[in-house]
Amino acid sequence: MTDRYAVIGNPVAHSKSPFIHAEFAGQTGQDLVYEQILAPLEGFATAVDNFRAEGGLGLNVTLPFKLEAFALADECSARALDAQAVNTLKFEGASVYGDNTDGIGLVRDIQVNLAFPIEGRDVLLMGAGGAAQGALGMLLDAKPARLVVANRTPQKAEQLVERLRRARGMGTALFSASGYAELAGQEFDLIVNSTSASLNNAVPELPDGVFARECLAYDMMYGKGLTPFLEKALTLGAARLADGIGMLVEQAAESFFIWRGVRPQTGPVIAAFKAR
Ligand code: NDP
Repeated sequence: MTDRYAVIGNPVAHSKSPFIHAEFAGQTGQDLVYEQILAPLEGFATAVDNFRAEGGLGLNVTLPFKLEAFALADECSARALDAQAVNTLKFEGASVYGDNTDGIGLVRDIQVNLAFPIEGRDVLLMGAGGAAQGALGMLLDAKPARLVVANRTPQKAEQLVERLRRARGMGTALFSASGYAELAGQEFDLIVNSTSASLNNAVPELPDGVFARECLAYDMMYGKGLTPFLEKALTLGAARLADGIGMLVEQAAESFFIWRGVRPQTGPVIAAFKAR
């Protein structure tokens, strides 16, 4: 019987994961199908149970269920514990394993695909929502010289930073929280936008001068052409621009590896998206 996997969310129709996993399965010769499950907002756990009862082996979890997935898992990876959120579930007998591949997807895209080493760089992460939560631990593991999390609601950034800072015994010089206005006079080598502002054609108010000369501006959002953040980054002097397609494909590849033990090639799939 063909093995079954799916992405579960609400909404879910926009998800590119079925295309990506079909590409990975074809490329690696794995016998699997990958479906989409629209779960009712109050019905995530039931939808997961139903999928398991029908023989499903694993799920990608998208908005708004990543926290519920974390609560549902019996055992979690260190990166899921860092994030306190799960985007990958694997069903092994009676047990449910949870992982979070968003952070490794981001860091691999930046360091491997874009050949931009994070170690020793000054890094700014914009936003303190679910995507930032998933990315922070892996960004810290990449050993930046300094990591600042800036958010429209600074208290949310402070909470996020405080929890991880305590868990890792880090000082505020290395890892801190901020509002946007307080960034004036500071410069960063890598600026990652994890806000959803672009969805409303908005860009957080960044002071002039935050983009260092060789800065990479990275938007987790993706779409046709430049996102509003990348357009602004270009005008403020960013040297390199990247959107979140590479992250999307890399996080999917890590989920595929967790489920199947086989690492697919991401380059051809990223290229297929860019060609589209
Ligand atoms: P959340 O809703 O959890 O968080 C949204 C964040 O954006 C908050 O920090 C919020 O600030 C901030 N924000 C929203 N509007 C504005 C604005 N106008 N100005 C300034 N800040 C704003 O969303 P997620 O973190 O889950 O997702 C964020 C983005 O990341 C989405 O666009 C998503 O598509 C993308 N993403 C991409 C992935 C990929 O693989 N490429 C993976 C995961 C996410 P505040 O706290 O003040 O409200």
